[in-house]
Amino acid sequence: MLIDTHAHLNFNAYKDDIDQVISRTLGAGMKVINVGSQFSTSERAVKMAKEYTGQMYAAVALHPIHLHETYVDEVEIPFKSREEKFVEADYEKLAKEKSVVAIGECGLDYFHMPEDIPEIEFVNKQKEVFIRHINLARKLDLPIILHCRSTKSEPDRAYLEMLEILKQENFNHAVIHCYTASLEVAKKYLEAGFMISFTGIITFPNAKVLWPVVEFAPMDRIMIETDAPYLAPQAVRGKRNEPLYVRYVAEKIAELKNISINQVEEKTTENATNFFKLNL
Ligand SMILES: [Zn+2]
Repeated sequence: MLIDTHAHLNFNAYKDDIDQVISRTLGAGMKVINVGSQFSTSERAVKMAKEYTGQMYAAVALHPIHLHETYVDEVEIPFKSREEKFVEADYEKLAKEKSVVAIGECGLDYFHMPEDIPEIEFVNKQKEVFIRHINLARKLDLPIILHCRSTKSEPDRAYLEMLEILKQENFNHAVIHCYTASLEVAKKYLEAGFMISFTGIITFPNAKVLWPVVEFAPMDRIMIETDAPYLAPQAVRGKRNEPLYVRYVAEKIAELKNISINQVEEKTTENATNFFKLNL
């Protein structure tokens, strides 16, 4: 049984055929954690989790790109982000729902920088809101799903600054989602006790730099995800992604680690179940 630990079936990309996508996913015996990126999508994730108890779960948070209005050029699905304030009481109320298994996705994003305010101002705002998410997670005893994206010119910077904040806050009950930084940085996160999660990016021929990270990361510290509707794996590249395609991520890990796909499936499912305390 596979668990897609990070999908966005709560997003508009599925508004026309969500029932079919869900029935394909659940028909394959899968479980999914739907991740919120702002209040409305967090609410929707919770609603879906309530509807499919024990099969779908939710994470709630305000993604750093939604702290300011900016154009987001995702490869398959570009959109304009809306500016939103992090109202802690609202997120806390939502996060207390039984189906919520994490605070996320939250963190730092230096890739999508708005042009109309100084960079330092936006970075500081992101850090401040991130710390408030950490405090909320601590208060509710929930893990965090971390989002981190650096600029092309400084591929490790956001990751290192995020790690610094987490260390200052003495918080390591978190998974770093869609890992895309260097092996050196991955080692620092692993040493500090974090989990690492991989998406279909590891199946892209131009993502060879991530392969040593997959090879190095111990089996009990990794999880798999799609980040659907984004980042469809190489075999289905260009299509809208969906939880079923997490299989391609598992396959690539099996190939790189030279083990069977069953071993990857079993271990990543066990890791996700323990990490998010999923009641199977
Ligand atoms: Zn995501």
